[in-house]
Amino acid sequence: MNRTQVDSNHAQPEGMGPLASLEWSRRFLDETPGDPQADGPSRQVAEACWSRTTPFAAPSPELRLWSEALANTLSLERGEAEVLAGGKVVAGMDPYAQRYGGHQFGNWAGQLGDGRAITLGEVASDGGVVELQLKGAGHTPYSRFADGKAVLRSSIREFLCSEAMHHLGVPTTRALSLCTTGESVMRDVLYNGNKALEQGAVVCRVAPSFIRFGSFQIHAATGDDATLRALVEHTLRHHFPSHSMADDASVVAWAREVAETTALMISHWMRVGFVHGVMNTDNMSIHGLTIDYGPYGWLEDYNPGWTPNTTDVSNRRYRYGQQPQIGAWNLARWLESLIPLMDEPEALESVLDHYGEVFNQHHNQMWVGKLGLGSWQEEDQVLIQELNTVLQTIETDMTIFFRLLCHIEGPDVDHFKQAFYGDFSAVEADWNAWLTKWWQRVQGAPNRSAMLQANPKYVLRNWMAQVAIDAAEQGDFTVCEALHSLLKQPYEEQIAMEEEWFCKRPEWARNRVGCSMLSCSS
Ligand code: AMP
Ligand code: MG
Repeated sequence: MNRTQVDSNHAQPEGMGPLASLEWSRRFLDETPGDPQADGPSRQVAEACWSRTTPFAAPSPELRLWSEALANTLSLERGEAEVLAGGKVVAGMDPYAQRYGGHQFGNWAGQLGDGRAITLGEVASDGGVVELQLKGAGHTPYSRFADGKAVLRSSIREFLCSEAMHHLGVPTTRALSLCTTGESVMRDVLYNGNKALEQGAVVCRVAPSFIRFGSFQIHAATGDDATLRALVEHTLRHHFPSHSMADDASVVAWAREVAETTALMISHWMRVGFVHGVMNTDNMSIHGLTIDYGPYGWLEDYNPGWTPNTTDVSNRRYRYGQQPQIGAWNLARWLESLIPLMDEPEALESVLDHYGEVFNQHHNQMWVGKLGLGSWQEEDQVLIQELNTVLQTIETDMTIFFRLLCHIEGPDVDHFKQAFYGDFSAVEADWNAWLTKWWQRVQGAPNRSAMLQANPKYVLRNWMAQVAIDAAEQGDFTVCEALHSLLKQPYEEQIAMEEEWFCKRPEWARNRVGCSMLSCSS
């Protein structure tokens, strides 16, 4: 395919170095149809899964954060900011932006695509072939009205959170590096007309692939069965090798696996109090990985109705408590995109029931762990409903509450003082009643080791990320490093870190942009 219209600001292949010495492949480019035009303006692309796109050359790239453990799986040495910030394309890479569509906030949005992500290529790692993708390396044919760049604040949030999620045991894409670009980018953080210059940055993220529900939807929506089929064949061959498209039953078997991994991912979100914030179908990985860290957040006071995303405040479609249902809704939209491949598409309906069943099993097991129940009994449903109520009688910090519960010696609400945001005397009786019930259920001997593995002590609270961002914006990345290190062992006590990080949201963060309010601006 010809490289046409390559902009002179964009990097050209050159040089050797650790990244060039990796074992690169281009399975996605070789096996799925692409756009005949490379780079060029934002546009609608037809009958293609990707467009070749050369990353923008960062004027002054500097490597700021690095995930050593992930780099080791790639046998990669630290360095090469000029490549990881998008300035240089080395031998073996063949960068492209992926084309996909999606339902945004419940409505079909047509073509979306990688507007600010550029895949460098696929490389061999200890865990099989993975895709390396730069987020924020400039304009692509899918950038629509925007610039394809990313700012430091959102890049730090993506880097720290994807690594934190990995160490929490939540399926997720990973982050290898964060580079600042030396360029300033104009952003309107709250979309209220207050534009300001911010520092540009690029995260290199890693996953088996960045194929999304929306990657399939776009072809079904445009009636392009041939491209849909090629994408499904590619996806099955490399990512679901035990499945095939042989017949309807085979497609259903694959869809059931996607339902299972999606259900598992969301049950983990519920366990750790994570709110994705933008569960559009273009942000749903086919691998059941948490993907696209934007206006996400962590529950502090336990409020199932909470969403951090200011764009969603009126409907709160993607609130914490609704994530399992949204998972089902998204799955249904993805299943619809498989209809053109089926003789009798009705068979797909069973997949949704399967999702519900699998989610419930995971959810019950989650409670067995969080409450140290030993094993699940149907009556536990009532205990959990009552906990859900009592947790909302007063602002209660979710992470601190569950962590303190692991260490309690008897049913006494005084043990949780540190978890309450206000005076709890008015609700003491309700709390003690629930604690007594739970204590009886576990016969005074909760399974503490299971609890300590289900209830993390440290998560990336919004204000913690903000403290790291504030320092980094002044050129000081030590807080980022400290959090990166802390969150590698979220279930360990790490007593020396307790005073600083095992604490409730400080008052300053209650209404601060970036802590309680986040937009998609990044
Ligand atoms: P998201 O909300 O991150 O899932 O993004 C939705 C769509 O908007 C995707 O197609 C993104 O690639 C695109 N997008 C978001 N931010 C930018 C940006 N700064 N430049 C270009 N495209 C963007
Ligand atoms: Mg996205």
